Amino acid sequence: MAEMLRAASNPTSDIGMTSLARALSFSDSSQRDQKDVFHSETNSPRGSVPQLGRKIKLMDGANCCEELWVFVIYTGGTIGMIMKNGVLVPEPNALVKNLKKLIMFHDEDYAQKTKLYDRTEFPESTLVLPMFENNTRIVYCILEYNPLLDSSNMTPKDWVKIGKDIEKYYEKYHGFVVLHGTDTMAYTSSALSFMCEHQGKPVILTGSQVPIYQNRNDGRGNLMGALIIAGQFFIPEVCLYFNNKLYRGNRSTKVDAGRFSAFCSPNLGPLADAEVDIKVNWDTVFWPTTIECFRVSTKLNCNVGLLRLFPSLTTQTVIAFLQPPLEGAVLETYGSGNAPSDRPDLLAELKKATDRGVIIMNCTQCLRGTVNPTYATGKVLIDAGVIPGRDMTPEAALCKLSYVLARTELSLEDKKKMMKQNLRGEMSADLAGAKLSMSDSRFIQVIANTLSISCKEELEAIRDALTPPLACAASKIGDIDALKAIREMGSHLGLADYDGRTPLHVAACEGHLEVVKYLLGQGASVHARDRFGDTPLSNAMHFR
Ligand code: ASP
Repeated sequence: MAEMLRAASNPTSDIGMTSLARALSFSDSSQRDQKDVFHSETNSPRGSVPQLGRKIKLMDGANCCEELWVFVIYTGGTIGMIMKNGVLVPEPNALVKNLKKLIMFHDEDYAQKTKLYDRTEFPESTLVLPMFENNTRIVYCILEYNPLLDSSNMTPKDWVKIGKDIEKYYEKYHGFVVLHGTDTMAYTSSALSFMCEHQGKPVILTGSQVPIYQNRNDGRGNLMGALIIAGQFFIPEVCLYFNNKLYRGNRSTKVDAGRFSAFCSPNLGPLADAEVDIKVNWDTVFWPTTIECFRVSTKLNCNVGLLRLFPSLTTQTVIAFLQPPLEGAVLETYGSGNAPSDRPDLLAELKKATDRGVIIMNCTQCLRGTVNPTYATGKVLIDAGVIPGRDMTPEAALCKLSYVLARTELSLEDKKKMMKQNLRGEMSADLAGAKLSMSDSRFIQVIANTLSISCKEELEAIRDALTPPLACAASKIGDIDALKAIREMGSHLGLADYDGRTPLHVAACEGHLEVVKYLLGQGASVHARDRFGDTPLSNAMHFR
């Protein structure tokens, strides 16, 4: 119930509008905002569960603030590395000690006065930021993994470990930060985005290019930004924060090994820009439309792989790559999803693999853009059973395959269907080439898909008003898939348009026998009268 209410609550509350600049400044406690209703004693027993958003009174009774609790999972990465024998290696048990010495990362005075260490499960590794102007403080507990890892050494087992910890502490904290190496951060954030189901709180991965212990580094800014956003902004997604930008985790990719702007999100604008103010692009945020409890799916199928096309690729290499136990593959193609159309040998191997049930996704090897079958060289892949991955990053497509293929209860068709669906905002609607016309089935499907991801009542009303003409348009061109999509949105296919004509009238006029059969199976009436008094039956006879 709590999660349901949180999911429905207004994300743009005043807490959420705190600017980074203001957040970093020490505020006068006398400016506190009294309208918050939380109130809490400070002497709760050690190890008790922190209550979310509670107000804390200092012992002298003078100061009051709201604590926002963030759980930090420290997995390793450059952010906490030191130079040993000329190479960077993770340094255990050093991060907390060092952060405690930095006044912008820890207010020991507040911790003492509010008996913070008695109120946390992690007395050794709980820190608190100085107070923000909106009278909030971020309290953060750091769980350091042992061993700390360079992210190049990470495997799906580590994703599962992180996921389980998020699940374990989910109810107790406002948000989560995962400190992680940059090398495979885009894979971990993609994987976690699928593993986290019905997510209602922020999970933010960050790290740095230069260790936090060095004088000039990007680690402090990244950690601070991630803590603030995780604690104060209600963004229910797995995100990646780097160099003042918050990206959707499954949209990001590492693009630079030598700059602070190591990541980009090529096909989707940032979810937030942390400049003088932190500006969240709320329209871009992907909202959960379910009211189920958060859970982490820890089943992942590792029989997946990536294959990048290149002009001298041999058929032998493709055959070797597609060998069992491979169950899913991401084919990184040229341009807008193209492959050589004059290589029947190679295409035949792809077809053989898809025929025996391997799911192959087509993702472009271009940094930006989407896969669409504009060229004959793209169409050949569809003919070989390869699924267009639209504008998914290869990292996201690979992790999605791992997640979907692990759902052993699903049929192969259902798994393929899931791969085509936008599960966590990892791909955009397929608008490419769709004419804004009622006779274009892609347009109908785009509208259908877009409407189905919105859960507001007004949208349901719009859906009900729009779907009869959409269904009639789909019927006119004989597009059963579009009709099924509309049906899945919850609309009845027997509803009539402004002329009283139902999809069955239209299909009967056009002679689309399969559509007629499908509609009859969905309960469409042969006796429905349009405003001219005609029924589908009379239309069928009239148009033969
Ligand atoms: N090799 C490091 C890692 O991924 C690089 C980094 O953190 O920036 O762990």
